[in-house]
Parts: sequence; C-alpha cells; structure tokens
Amino acid sequence: MEITIPHYYKRFRCIASECPDTCCAGWAIMIDDKTLKKYKKIRGTFGRTVRASINWKEKSFRQRKGRCAFLNKENLCELYLEGGSDYFCRTCRRYPRHIEEFEDCREISLSLSCMAAARIILGSREKVRFLRREIPVRREEDYKDFDYFLFTNLLDVREAVFEILQNRTMDAGTRSCMALALVHDFQGRIQGQRLGETQELLERYRKPEAADWFRKDMEQYRDGSQRDTAFRMFRILKRMEVLQENWPEELWQARRMLYSRSGEEYQAMREAWKESCRNSGVDLENLREQLMVYYTYTYFAGAVYDGQAYGKIKMASAAARLTEELAMARWKAQQETLTQEDFLWTAHRLSKEIEHSDPNLIALERQLVPFGLTEFFRLMA
Ligand code: SF4
Repeated sequence: MEITIPHYYKRFRCIASECPDTCCAGWAIMIDDKTLKKYKKIRGTFGRTVRASINWKEKSFRQRKGRCAFLNKENLCELYLEGGSDYFCRTCRRYPRHIEEFEDCREISLSLSCMAAARIILGSREKVRFLRREIPVRREEDYKDFDYFLFTNLLDVREAVFEILQNRTMDAGTRSCMALALVHDFQGRIQGQRLGETQELLERYRKPEAADWFRKDMEQYRDGSQRDTAFRMFRILKRMEVLQENWPEELWQARRMLYSRSGEEYQAMREAWKESCRNSGVDLENLREQLMVYYTYTYFAGAVYDGQAYGKIKMASAAARLTEELAMARWKAQQETLTQEDFLWTAHRLSKEIEHSDPNLIALERQLVPFGLTEFFRLMA
C-alpha cells in the first residue's frame, strides 16, 4: 500500500489547552462502535461517568454549554488525563488527520479546521511537496469496480494542477484559472471516454506558451464585475447544514459587510482590502496558492468514485474564494485591519463548516454546477 502525506505533515503538534478554538467544543463528536463497546466495559466510578457522558442514541459525547462533557476548565480532556490515548475514540485519535482511501493507496492530510494545522498549512511559504512510501498491509481491502485507469489519469492531472498552482512566475489568480481550465478540458475527456488523450492535454498545458497565453487572456476577466457572482456563491453557505452554533451569525455579519453595497463599491472595497493586506504583510498570493493546493490534494482524487473531476476543482476554487470573502468581511468589521492570524482563523472556521459534513461537501459541489468557467475566471483571476 502506498501512503502519501504532505511534507509538513509531521510538524503537527496539538496545542491542547493553548488552542484558541478547541476541536472538543462547538460540534458533536461521534464515537465509533468499537470504542463504544470499550466504554461499556470500563469499571468503577470512572466507567459510570464515561457512560453517563455519552448520548447512546446519537453515538456521540454529550455536551455542556457547547463543550464536550470531558473537556475540563483548563481545556484538557479528562478521558485522556484518566486513561491516556487508549481511551480516545477513532475521531479523537485521528483528528486533525484526514484520510482518503483508494485501492492500494492512502492519502493523508491535516485538516485546516484545526488552528494548529492551519498555521502549518497556510503559514508555509514553501511549495508543498507530497511524500510517498510503501507500507506492508495485513489485509487487502476489496475495492469492487475501482477504475484504476481513471485513477491514474486523475493523479497525473492533479500533478499538473499542482505544477500550475505552484508556478510563481504567474500571479495566483491566473494560476487558479489555468488549473480550472485544465480540469474543465480533462472533464470533457472523462465524459467522452477519451482518457487516452490525457497525456496530450497535459503536454499542451505544460508548454511555456500556455502560461503566457493565460497571463494575457485573464486580463479580460478583471473587469470589476465580481460582486453578483461572489454573492451567489456566498449564498450557498446559507443553505448548508450548520455545525457551529454561532456560524449563522458570522455569515449574517459577513453578508452585511460585503454585499449591502453596489458592484463598484464592492470592487473598490476588494482593491482596498488587497492593498491593506499587502501593507500589513498578509500575503494573499501565497495564501491563495496554499488554499488551492490544500483543497485540491484533499478532494480531487475522490473523483475516481463519481467521475466529477471538474466539480472537485470548482469546489477547491470556491473554498479558496469564499475564505477570501469571509476574510475581507472580517477586515471590514475590524476597521479595515487584518492579520495573518485573522486570515487563518477565517480559513479554519470555513473548513470546519464545509469539510466535516458530508452533506455540506456534496451540497457545495452540486450547487456549484450552474457556475460556468468564465464566471469562475471572473472570480478567481
Ligand atoms: S483543534 Fe487541533 S490544536 Fe486544537 S485541541 Fe483540537 S487537535 Fe489540538
């Protein structure tokens, strides 16, 4: 089995009581069946406390004032203090690690929804590298009907997408658009059952002239007409399952800050925001690159299960762009100031909402279907 991790993966350390938004509060933590059985067997007073702190019907830890029943006043886990990591359920043991499984291959990442991980993922100015190694497995999983040919094509295309997203001779907006265009063209090959033409497509996008062409061509999309499309995209968030209690309020505030103004005013605000970020050392170019690479790495290869590669790159682009929208709203609400830490906070809040709910991930991808390539160019360029 081949394991893939981003190069920064091993840098992660949980900051526990120092965490500004602990994963043990604000959402329900689901418990796997194997751990539930283990909890049933714990003896004595502690065993009784554990069992009383579980919602057996929902298979989750009970909450007190929005916090896991085991989270103490010092923001430390009483389960861990009592029994060490052996007492963790699968969710607590893994988080913030995220695993995507494929035939003979496992891709592991850190989740942006954890602030300590977000600082590593978005704080890095290095180009992300992906490390692979073989590990022995005790039991081979049976992946019936796994389309290995599509999968290898997806990995080849994703490799080319990473090259584009990390080609710093272009601005990050142009890179995002070029990646979208490549996957748009690749989707045509999936649908037309012409995967034999993928390599020729990749060669075309890898030619130096391709980058030059996109540099010039993207200018026409920078016409200052982003407000309406950005608002339409933002409204998708309003239609999703809510995971964090104060999320609807955050969205309401952001909507008021961003869209209660004309198209010209919105565009002027966006330019002022970019200028302000430049002056305060918030590197939006790098943040866009890291966000796009993060979301593409996490979800793109999953298209092997539904054939929707273009849907995955649209989702990555929308997540990156919505992070920027929410960060801009925060900047506006904070008297036009924004720090790198504010941006990371925003990215982690959005990730918490969209990445930890399968219905939300599905809804985001589905509701982006009506957004055309040129609308994406206008938003991302
Ligand atoms: S969110 Fe991350 S850093 Fe914070 S408590 Fe959870 S794992 Fe630790």
